[in-house]
Amino acid sequence: MAWTVESSRGGGIFLPQIGWHLDAHERADASFVSHAHSDHLGRHRTVLCTGPTARLMAARLPGRRETIVLPYDESWPITPEARATLYPAGHILGSAQVLVENAQGRLLYTGDFKLRPGLSAEPCRVPPGGADVLIMETTFGKPRYRFPPDESVAADIVDFCRRAIDERAVPLLFCYSLGKSQEVLARLGESGLPIMLHAQTARITAVYEACGMHFPAHRLFDPDEAAGHVVIGPPQINRSPEVRRIRSRRTAMISGWALDPWTMPRHRYDAAFPLSDHADYDDLVRFVAAVRPRLVYTVHGFAAEFARDLRERGIEAWALGRENQLDLGLFG
Ligand SMILES: [Zn+2]
Repeated sequence: MAWTVESSRGGGIFLPQIGWHLDAHERADASFVSHAHSDHLGRHRTVLCTGPTARLMAARLPGRRETIVLPYDESWPITPEARATLYPAGHILGSAQVLVENAQGRLLYTGDFKLRPGLSAEPCRVPPGGADVLIMETTFGKPRYRFPPDESVAADIVDFCRRAIDERAVPLLFCYSLGKSQEVLARLGESGLPIMLHAQTARITAVYEACGMHFPAHRLFDPDEAAGHVVIGPPQINRSPEVRRIRSRRTAMISGWALDPWTMPRHRYDAAFPLSDHADYDDLVRFVAAVRPRLVYTVHGFAAEFARDLRERGIEAWALGRENQLDLGLFG
């Protein structure tokens, strides 16, 4: 018998043989939550996740739920016949892949993942022994998505900030408040530049700190005292009155989509930098080679295109469910 994998309504995946969902969006009895980004969360009765994901989820989606916290590398009997083990996914703090093993074999679900080691997430690890069936995210599943080294993108961001401050303008870095902002904050560390965080970003950063992460000194964003500081905040504040109070400003979007001039709303920003928390195309291919699956299901982004590329390489692969090109990860 083989694994049965279904895509569930409203996003997410259902494994009928064990009765568990993976990153379900609509309310489910039991769902694994790979990480705390909102497109992977739902108001479920029971969730399985890592400790940091449980804390971040409590901050973002309060409510009553039974939470089974499983540290990386420890196995838990998800049913009497199957066990689940979590492995770091390298995407944001607490992000996890889940390996489910039973008589059908080994099934691995990645959630969002990144192989390039970051400063604000546990480094991704491929489960020893790989898996028979792999369900993987393919946000950047086209060959044109090849990211430059994170260190050189970070150096470009620091240059942009220094230049703005030299010109007596305030550099504003817009990025997703969970994950990307903390990575940017950590990457600014050695620059010694004074940093302000928007309240929304500061709130999530405080959860990271409560989980034991350390960051460079930062203070809360105040438009009247922002001169000489780098400001990190979510993209939606770009046109807010508080940002408009800053007369001279230089804005930058931080996103993997910066590689695509036509998907980035470049005209709204002075610059865009491709620092991503997802795997790029080469790392997606590398990951499949390391897992050595018999069968691959792709989800998110260019799922159909990447599955076709894998089939051309001799690996059986199919996109799962209906896919939308960009709506799931514009700030990836
Ligand atoms: Zn994510």
